Amino acid sequence: MEFKGYRESIQIYDAQGNPIDTWVEVRVHPITGEIARVINVPIRSLEPPNLEKMARETREACPFCPEHLYKKTPAFDPSWLPGGMLKRSKAVLIPNRFPYDRYCALIILSDRHYVPLEAWEAREIFDGLSLAQDFLRRVVGHDPAAQAFSLNWNYAPHAGSSILHPHMQLSVGRFATNRARRLLMASQNGMLEGQDLFAEMLEEERVIRERWCGMLGSWHQLFAFAPRGRFFELTLINETPGCFSELEETQIQALSEGVVRGLRFVSAMGFSSMNLSLFSPLREAGMFHPMASISPRACVGPYQMSDISFQMLIDEFFALFLPEEIAARYRETVRGNSDA
Ligand SMILES: [Zn+2]
Repeated sequence: MEFKGYRESIQIYDAQGNPIDTWVEVRVHPITGEIARVINVPIRSLEPPNLEKMARETREACPFCPEHLYKKTPAFDPSWLPGGMLKRSKAVLIPNRFPYDRYCALIILSDRHYVPLEAWEAREIFDGLSLAQDFLRRVVGHDPAAQAFSLNWNYAPHAGSSILHPHMQLSVGRFATNRARRLLMASQNGMLEGQDLFAEMLEEERVIRERWCGMLGSWHQLFAFAPRGRFFELTLINETPGCFSELEETQIQALSEGVVRGLRFVSAMGFSSMNLSLFSPLREAGMFHPMASISPRACVGPYQMSDISFQMLIDEFFALFLPEEIAARYRETVRGNSDA
């Protein structure tokens, strides 16, 4: 597999007529063909919000804290989900009161109102992902029209979360999200040509070792060649094709450990917010390899400038970090990679 990147060397002149040399690198996503740009712009001071203060101010009225959880929350139809919700250890799955798909759930990950990014335990992520698997299996058994799902996490307000108490969002319905559909269709088209595109990409990344950061169980730790988001995109991609809902317990444990490492790295890089998305078919895997993607989010400077600009309208992202440099930082920061 070829990684296509085009570096444009650009010369402009300052007000005194002296040359200024700069560059932009246009990169093509090896599976979807989406373009991302890595730009040569210095990072201005990030101003992480004071989440400790927010935690103190929002704790009392929090609908997801234990004293409110079962008094205020709705329930799913018990005819297909006995009890109307799912629980596992301290994780709880409930309906989203404001659904954006046929089945729309929130997975409250912890009874802790605020968990700093660097303080997550893999066991907590594991419980949440296990609930998601359980829910998906039940919907698949209950509703033959359900064809796709989306599992996402907005961590803290700068990543789009209105409630600080940690919760993932899981939706199931007839249509995959735009990005999931691009990934799924590319994988499907590759399969029709006799190719496993994810395997080809992983093999090449593993050989050149520019963005690949080792295995964690069955998961490749890899920084996206053509990242989405303003900073970087850390992906965890399963070694073999499959559906997320059918992954084994040991695979979910390793994925949870990978997510925790990713969150710690995001924190170590000076961020306090991130988005996480998980991509997988709901029913038939074909040649699709389950993939989790983590991207930091931040507002910048005294006026809280958003890290997403007109990029949302053109569906193209300008990253401030070279993925290869971030991968080197990750390898230095994260210890214990089994095969790095
Ligand atoms: Zn809470």
